[in-house]
Amino acid sequence: MLVRILGSAAGGGVPQWNCGCPVCAAARSGSRPVTPRRSSTIAVCDGDGQWFLGNAGPDLDAALRECTPLWPRPGDATAPIHGVFLTDAELDHTVGLLSLRQASELHIYGTAAVRTLLSQCGLLPTLESYTVVHWHEVRPRKRFALQYRDGTASPLWGEPLEASSGRLPRYARGSGPSTGVVIGYRITDQRTARAAVFLPSVAALDAGVVEELAKTQLVLVDGSFWADDEMHQQQRGTATARSMGHLPINGADGSLRLLRRLTNPHIVYTHINNTNPMLFEDGPQRACLASAGASIAHDGAEYEL
Ligand SMILES: [Zn+2]
Ligand SMILES: [Zn+2]
Repeated sequence: MLVRILGSAAGGGVPQWNCGCPVCAAARSGSRPVTPRRSSTIAVCDGDGQWFLGNAGPDLDAALRECTPLWPRPGDATAPIHGVFLTDAELDHTVGLLSLRQASELHIYGTAAVRTLLSQCGLLPTLESYTVVHWHEVRPRKRFALQYRDGTASPLWGEPLEASSGRLPRYARGSGPSTGVVIGYRITDQRTARAAVFLPSVAALDAGVVEELAKTQLVLVDGSFWADDEMHQQQRGTATARSMGHLPINGADGSLRLLRRLTNPHIVYTHINNTNPMLFEDGPQRACLASAGASIAHDGAEYEL
């Protein structure tokens, strides 16, 4: 199995078009080293040239245009992409589905809650006007095979991990489903029993989840915010990382402290918000991550498991 990062930023990318924070300013001017990033999406390959997408960020079409292995091969009728598994219904994880509307059919994996929310905001009915959507409902802890377009099972199995904070997307205006709103996925290659976890939004890492992560080879985890009060520090409002459903990396009860104890998996932060100072490649946060054995995803990075 191969995991490829198509985008490693949170919503808005790096730099974000209307943001003047120090990271975005440096990414534009080059005054400090900051690598531009697209919004968070991954692609998982079965090892035989067939792919599944994890989420669909707003700039998915641009990412796919640059990613040679996901192009249609000579003689093939379409691209070797067989489905998309969704962690939640946030716009920055789903708007890219609209870029896939030219497909004759689209296989989407997600919870019933995510389906309800995407119907509520109009994205799913809009997509269904352009292509045939096959919705594969997934449930926390219930394993399922990612299927090829012809309906046969791939060797890649998914298992949803509950990651909800109870917070709904802003467009839901406070009313909507209460369970299954945000999940992560463990993707296991049945042939090798090697597994990757994709957890781009996680509000809390309880002991049970950390135990699950310990058994995997790769953990792609929520790197939205370095500090809980980062938005406030950057004069971008008063919302804390936790109030937005994201466990911060740093601090006594941040994710790094929990994850650095894991010796087996490679810990990689992704879904990084453009305010996050660890995006400065010459900053002290990088050294802190390195000393904990963790790293940061970048667009185009590949992990062979
Ligand atoms: Zn996001
Ligand atoms: Zn910014």
